[in-house]
Amino acid sequence: MGLRGGQADTEQRVIQLEQDILGVNNAIAAANRRWLRRNGILSLNLVSSPGAGKTSLLTETIRRLPDASAVTVIEGDQQTDLDAARIRETGAKALQINTGKGCHLDARMVNEAIGRLNMEPASLLLIENVGNLVCPASFDLGEEARVVILSVTEGDDKPLKYPDIFVGASLMIVSKTDLLPYVHFDIDRVTEYARRINPDIACLTLSVETGQGMDAWMEWLEKRRSTFCITAADGDPGLVPFFT
Ligand code: MG
Ligand code: ZN
Repeated sequence: MGLRGGQADTEQRVIQLEQDILGVNNAIAAANRRWLRRNGILSLNLVSSPGAGKTSLLTETIRRLPDASAVTVIEGDQQTDLDAARIRETGAKALQINTGKGCHLDARMVNEAIGRLNMEPASLLLIENVGNLVCPASFDLGEEARVVILSVTEGDDKPLKYPDIFVGASLMIVSKTDLLPYVHFDIDRVTEYARRINPDIACLTLSVETGQGMDAWMEWLEKRRSTFCITAADGDPGLVPFFT
């Protein structure tokens, strides 16, 4: 009986600690979001398992945008600055955050990055989270929208296995569709599962290799930017859109 009581106490303390950590994170995320909105900077938080092709998608996206200098990327990885180096080759600004043993970015890391980055007003901020579909779901970074990327070499049942990351996401991208002939992956099924978890989620398929679906992704981004600019311009009509 004593043991059970002790366990309950420990569980209670763990839950309290988690709530405290997330409470602080949410407060910093809210400050990030306010600052980004005030400066007309559209921010996306890209999440996926390791190897889904986030960095490749980012470099190809920046290549297709008219002005790479209006794009900033925050790269989250446990080790190395290899991805930031790949981004810089496109002409975009990139800052690498190494989380060490940490398996996600948090709002404080993004806040410090924002402080160092000297971003242009009315620009685009792309945040590549650490490859992980679990805890990034709990850590709001202050982004405008979360994008979940899933490659066809993974299971099409991932929305059911990792529902939390899909709940708050605006878009699911199924990547590496050029590999579909070689793998068992059902696009209809993954879409149905994602919408079962989050009826409002938009779904796109694409391949950075062949270019399939890239136009639809760029259109999604442009639509997001135009509606965001209208919102961000409330009370601050001096903003210039970063795409044009
Ligand atoms: Mg990467
Ligand atoms: Zn984590």
